[in-house]
Amino acid sequence: MADKTKTVVVLPGDDAAPEAMGATMDALRALKLPIDYVEFPPGEKWVRGETDAAARKAIDGSDTTLFGSTSGKTTAITYLRWGKQTFANVRPVRYSKGFNSPLAKPDGIDFVIVRENLEDLYLGLEGPLEALAPLKLMSKILRAPLDTSERGIYAIKVITERATRRVAEFACQLTMKRKRAGGKGKLTCTSKYNMLRESDGLFRKVVEETAAKYPEIKYEQFIVDDFARRLVQSPHDLDVVVAPNLYGDILSDAAAGIIGGLGLAPSGCYGADYAYFESVHGTAPDIMGMGIINPSATMLSAALMLDYLGFAAEASRLDAAVRKAYADGRALTPDQGGTAKTSEFTRAVIANL
Ligand code: ATP
Repeated sequence: MADKTKTVVVLPGDDAAPEAMGATMDALRALKLPIDYVEFPPGEKWVRGETDAAARKAIDGSDTTLFGSTSGKTTAITYLRWGKQTFANVRPVRYSKGFNSPLAKPDGIDFVIVRENLEDLYLGLEGPLEALAPLKLMSKILRAPLDTSERGIYAIKVITERATRRVAEFACQLTMKRKRAGGKGKLTCTSKYNMLRESDGLFRKVVEETAAKYPEIKYEQFIVDDFARRLVQSPHDLDVVVAPNLYGDILSDAAAGIIGGLGLAPSGCYGADYAYFESVHGTAPDIMGMGIINPSATMLSAALMLDYLGFAAEASRLDAAVRKAYADGRALTPDQGGTAKTSEFTRAVIANL
C-alpha cells in the first residue's frame, strides 16, 4: 500500500468520455483510498485557455493523471505526452470470460502492446509538397528525384535512436516482469522495415540490439502487415509487442477488436518520472448523452493507475471486479451485446468490489 496520500488529476475529456469517467470515479471512490482527486470540467467547458493552464499546473503538482479521451479541444494531452515525456504507451490486451470477442477461441489471449508515444508521424510535420523542392530529394525506391510539381502534401516521419532505445528498454523490462509472473518472456518487434529501411529499419535494429542484452528474452520480429495477420490468426502466441507510434495506434485498436472491442481496452503512458492513464478508445461522439458508453476501458486504466501509485492490491480488486461483471454477464452495455446502461454496469462492478 502506498505510504502517503496521493494526488490524481482527473480530466474527463470530451463528448461521451466524461460519462465513462464519472462511472470510473464512482468505482474509485468506493475503494476509499488515500487519494485526493483534482477534478476538472468536461471538454466543452475548456474553450477558455486558462482552464488548460490550470490543468498543467495541477498536473505538475500531481502523482498522476486519469484522462478521458479528447477530441482535441484541450492542449492538456500535448502536455501529458510531450511535456511530461511519457514515451511508452502500454496497452494490455487480455481476454476475460464474457467479453464479446468475435474469435471462436479467445480464451488465454494475454499480451501487451508497447507503442512509442512521442515521435514517428505524430509530430504534425506536414506541409505543401512544393516546399520540399529546394531539398532536391531522391526517392530511394524509385531511384529518381521527388516530383514536387504536383499539388500535394508531405508528412514527415521521425524515428530517433534515443527514443527507440528507451521504449525498447521499457518493453524488455516489461517482458522480464511478465516472465517473473509466469509469462512467456517473449518480445515481438514490428515495423515496415523492408520498405522503410532507414526509419523503420532503425527502429527494428535498435529494438533487436536492446533485446540482445536480455538473454532470457525470446525475441522475434515481423513486418507490420504480416504481424497484423498474426495478431488476428494467432494472438495467443504474443506476449509483449513493441511498435512505432502509428502502427502501435492502429494495431491496438485491432487488438481491442479481437477481445471484444474498444470498450475493453485500457492504457497507461509512462515516462521516466510521470505517467498518465487513459482508455484506448476515442470520445465516442455517436453515443454521447445516451448513457450507454462502456466504462470498462477507463476503469481498467484506473486499475493500471492504482498499481502505478503503489496500491497493488486495490488495482487487482478493481480489475477483478470489472472482469467478474463480464463473467456474470447480467449488466453488460450494448457494445458487449447487453442492454444495460453505463450506470447499471457500474453498480455491478461496485458490488463486486
Ligand atoms: P479517436 O480517433 O479519438 O481514437 P474515433 O473517432 O476513431 O476516436 P472512437 O471514439 O474510439 O473512435 O469510437 C469508435 C466507435 O467505437 C464509435 O462507434 C464509438 O461509439 C464506439 N466506442 C468507442 N468507445 C466505446 C465505449 N467505451 N463504449 C461503447 N462504444 C464505444
